[in-house]
Amino acid sequence: ATHRDQDRAAEEHGERPALGSTVIPARPGAFRNTPDTDMSTAANQEWAAGIIHRVRGSRIGIEEIEAARVTTREGVDDVYRRALAAQETWARRGASERAQAVREVARVFAAHRADLLEVMAAETGKVLEQGDPEVSEAMDFALYYAEQAELLEELDDAVLTPRRLTLVTPPWNFPVAIPTGGVLSALVTGSAVVMKPAPQARRCGAIIGALVHEAGIDRDLVQIVDVPEDEVGRALIADPRVDQLVLTGAYDTAALFASWRPELPIKAETSGKNAVIVTPHADLDLAAKDVAASAFGHAGQKCSAASLVITVGSVARSRRFSSQLADAVMSLHVGYPTDPTSQMGPVIEEPAGKLADGLSSLGAGERWLAEPQQLDESGRLWSPGVREGVEPGSEYHLTEYFGPILGIVHADTLEEATEIQNGTSYGLTAGLHSLDLGEIAWWTQHVEAGNLYVNRGITGAIVERQAFGGWKRSAIGETSKAGGPNYLIHLMDAADVEGRR
Ligand code: GLU
Repeated sequence: ATHRDQDRAAEEHGERPALGSTVIPARPGAFRNTPDTDMSTAANQEWAAGIIHRVRGSRIGIEEIEAARVTTREGVDDVYRRALAAQETWARRGASERAQAVREVARVFAAHRADLLEVMAAETGKVLEQGDPEVSEAMDFALYYAEQAELLEELDDAVLTPRRLTLVTPPWNFPVAIPTGGVLSALVTGSAVVMKPAPQARRCGAIIGALVHEAGIDRDLVQIVDVPEDEVGRALIADPRVDQLVLTGAYDTAALFASWRPELPIKAETSGKNAVIVTPHADLDLAAKDVAASAFGHAGQKCSAASLVITVGSVARSRRFSSQLADAVMSLHVGYPTDPTSQMGPVIEEPAGKLADGLSSLGAGERWLAEPQQLDESGRLWSPGVREGVEPGSEYHLTEYFGPILGIVHADTLEEATEIQNGTSYGLTAGLHSLDLGEIAWWTQHVEAGNLYVNRGITGAIVERQAFGGWKRSAIGETSKAGGPNYLIHLMDAADVEGRR
């Protein structure tokens, strides 16, 4: 594909093309990450303004996009029968033909970047600054898994057989990238895929389905089903025809689904309680900026988000770091995606339960460095909250809140800080800010988490460069990482072959 094709496709849909053009690799080994839209150009700013304008009056309803509403057990049965019939033909096509079909999905996504951003913003409140890299990531998943599928076919000593039916249950916080990655990874291996969007992101799920089908994928092969979270949802998961479940969501949800059908292979990326350590050898300006972005990007609603910062020794004793952090946090502009200056958007729904507690009450010895304020009637818009004086082992230390709150813990040494960082039941992302090579080397050997980040933010893993997935209760099942080289093989059945050549 040439850039001209993409431009033409975008024009046909009445949009300005995103000028960060996409490089679609023509052969294995050529994968490149998709660039985000360059918001410094006047043309792209105008393009973004057009999207924001459309978000204000967004009319894209679930009815106008396709999504099968499945409300009965018979409906579930019909979905699975059609999927299995379509899979027979699909599996007979070779890996490279399947890979080409999946690359076509990336092309269609490129042409519909604006529509994807609009639906994400209108439905889930994601601001454009956060949504744009997410569309790039979705395209990266398509292109990367396409390439990986071709590479796997060249293995000499193994025969890989697709699983016939994959169920994907994505979350609402990355409502485009995560469902797309789940669907296309299984699809490119030769599986049929049924995807049930999160109830808060039904329109995002529906538009993904529409674009996948626009790219030429058979409607029975990839089905987006909108299922109530009751016994019909349970029937969807517990059905013996499902060969595997790919899930991203809370640990408790994954554990519940696993209990419904214990023998079902599950690949789940789950919760996190992620901390960044800042030592006296850190660049404190950089650390304050990275911690603020990691804690409050998408209002903290990322599994990867920083929810603790652990200040070591003199960083803890002097007020310099905490006042810089407070400045960085309080200067974030909070607002809806309909306001182009919004950096931190709303939370998905009015806080209840744990998040409501975390935004309102302090534990023993804690005080607010920045007290979270409810900014409007809806209850969804909150200013960022930062609490100081968090005690190791306290409720705040151990709980995932999934919202715009950050806590500060003090530690005397890097060893003690790492123990606090490791001291939760999760192990997804972890950060260290230090310019001392000895500290960096020691820390990377002792920290217990799947994604480690040194002197940068701890969110925004990039496909191929930072395969994403965690340890402990941050994952269930086969834990090979999304966007990494071992992901596809764990979606297939492998037979080792000896003496074939
Ligand atoms: N992959 C995302 C990141 O690195 C996080 C995904 C999630 O929140 O589930 O920030």
